Amino acid sequence: MIVVMNKSVTQEQIDHIVDIIEKAGLKVHISKGTEKCIIGIIGDERKVDQDKIMGLDYVEKLMPIQKPYRRVSREAHPDNTVIDVKGVKFGGKDIVIIAGPCACESEEQMFEVANALKKMGVKAFRASAYKPRTSPYAFQGMAEEGLKIIRKVGDETGLIVETEVMDTRDVETVAKYVDMIRIGARNTQNFDLLKEVGKVNKPVILKNGLATTVDEWLFAAEYIMNEGNPNVILCERGIRTFEPLTRNTLNLSVIPLVKKLTHLPVIVDPCHAAGKREPIPALAKAAVAVGADGLLVEVHNDPENALSDQAQQFTPKDFEVIYKDLKKVAEAVGRKLV
Ligand code: PEP
Ligand code: MN
Repeated sequence: MIVVMNKSVTQEQIDHIVDIIEKAGLKVHISKGTEKCIIGIIGDERKVDQDKIMGLDYVEKLMPIQKPYRRVSREAHPDNTVIDVKGVKFGGKDIVIIAGPCACESEEQMFEVANALKKMGVKAFRASAYKPRTSPYAFQGMAEEGLKIIRKVGDETGLIVETEVMDTRDVETVAKYVDMIRIGARNTQNFDLLKEVGKVNKPVILKNGLATTVDEWLFAAEYIMNEGNPNVILCERGIRTFEPLTRNTLNLSVIPLVKKLTHLPVIVDPCHAAGKREPIPALAKAAVAVGADGLLVEVHNDPENALSDQAQQFTPKDFEVIYKDLKKVAEAVGRKLV
């Protein structure tokens, strides 16, 4: 159920409605938009005195929410959510590039890539310190040592930095080091992990799972938001299909639909979708054209000798060409690539 009011409603009036809802033992989700102010009622709404709320002259209407994901749904929050990470804005006019190596391998590697990206104008840096690998014998990441390097890169270059968390026991530590936390495709429905990142004060990049439907993906975001963290950025990274020519199939067709269903920013990872370099520049351009709010791209100083995902990472030099091309596509759709 949502309470719809005109945007001219006062804080005192909002507080009064919140008080009625909270006294009934329910939670609220407030969204102040350009046209309307909306209070979402979270919980068993039969417990709320609906007549009392309807009787207030500044309440326009009381409406049921059609979608089962309440905080994530655009019904509860008609305007796009813009997530500001140290001045880098996701979900607004800017299309944000997050680039960097698949994994943090050494301080030297990280600074080489980060400095090259910074020089190009990229604002956000990715690197994993915990790696979800198919084989237990493959490189598993540098763990906390890697997190320290990631933080150092952030501090010395001014880039905002993100990394993946895989284990509930690491959430607090990871949140201490990075500006954004990433939940990878293998953990999209790890509900305990989602609840844990929902308790920290850092934006979360939430990938779709290898075989999650859009509904399941949005419910995963709801888990995070329901714990109090409103800053979720969805990331489409491809789904597993019968087609072996690419590692996964990038599901670009859902981007405009997901953006209708939710107010959250939606970015695209064309690298883990394709698994090989060749189609990635075209996929990245297509992602910008269909309305993605950002891209997550793997850039490595020496892709051939990378410790993971060798086939899908770009050298900074090759990425610069793609980056310049993407700027033109962004302009063509009335946006700005940063
Ligand atoms: C990653 O981005 O480092 C990653 C492992 O991707 P995914 O979770 O999409 O496989
Ligand atoms: Mn990777």
